[in-house]
Amino acid sequence: MMNRREFLGCATGAAAVAAQAPPQGNIVLVHEHVLVDFTSGKSPYDPEEVFQIAKPHLEECKKYGVRRFQDCTPAYLGRSPKLLQRLSDAVGIEIWTNTGWYAARNHQYLPPEAKTDSAEKIAKRWVEEWRKGVDGMKPRFIKIGVNNGPLPDLDKKIVRAAALCSKETGLTIQSHTGNGKAALEQVAIVTGEKVDASKFVWVHAYREKDHAIHEQVGRAGAWVQFDGVSQDSLAWHAECVRFMESKQLLNRTMISQDAGYYKPGQPKGGTFRPFSTMQKQLLPMLHPFWGLQLLMINPVQAYGKS
Ligand SMILES: [Zn+2]
Repeated sequence: MMNRREFLGCATGAAAVAAQAPPQGNIVLVHEHVLVDFTSGKSPYDPEEVFQIAKPHLEECKKYGVRRFQDCTPAYLGRSPKLLQRLSDAVGIEIWTNTGWYAARNHQYLPPEAKTDSAEKIAKRWVEEWRKGVDGMKPRFIKIGVNNGPLPDLDKKIVRAAALCSKETGLTIQSHTGNGKAALEQVAIVTGEKVDASKFVWVHAYREKDHAIHEQVGRAGAWVQFDGVSQDSLAWHAECVRFMESKQLLNRTMISQDAGYYKPGQPKGGTFRPFSTMQKQLLPMLHPFWGLQLLMINPVQAYGKS
């Protein structure tokens, strides 16, 4: 138990950290992308061009206090650990990659084995990637994607595989999720495999308009991640965070931008959305203590230390 003076001391310290601009280098961006290849390898690109385009954006992250950047591009959608490692070395921030498969967008980015293999066999492949690394980089979380609920059987299998992989590796599951119904189903599947709900992150929770489901998933002990913070979404994202805080669930809440990224097939990779909207525009709309919780404390609790 803290006395009043100690509490005020901590609170002032936290406010000082949160109010500083730029904040000290402890921010974790939990869901961003350097490159996403929606053409599945059909549009060749020059990794050097991607490097040159992404680098200044990552340098800007560093300027805004980012220590760790979690790249959420899964296998078969352009996951490129070599490029990430090169950017990490050049810019001096930590970059994480992932293992897992993406069943969202009606299964078009799944490899053929997703249909034929059992959940156990799929999980084994992902555990192997974690053990051996992918192109020299060890995956630090599981990234999957699912469609809207009620979930098709194939999506359920991918979620079960993620749960089994998490059980074996301790990695946290980050799931691109269509809607709230799908989030609830996934929490049930994961906990049904005796994996703690805190190992599951509901990605794109902002797409669900019913706050009651945000609360339900948070109360179940899973993470509610409001990704997709952009210029046009600030009011809704601020409302989502304020709602979670009003239910004392800020300690189950994360925010990120799902920003970037180089898109093969488009001239110069298309429009690259910067990674700084959250710090520049969303945080000033929120209580000064919250940035510390949302961007520094919770990401470490959810995904682990560096
Ligand atoms: Zn994403």
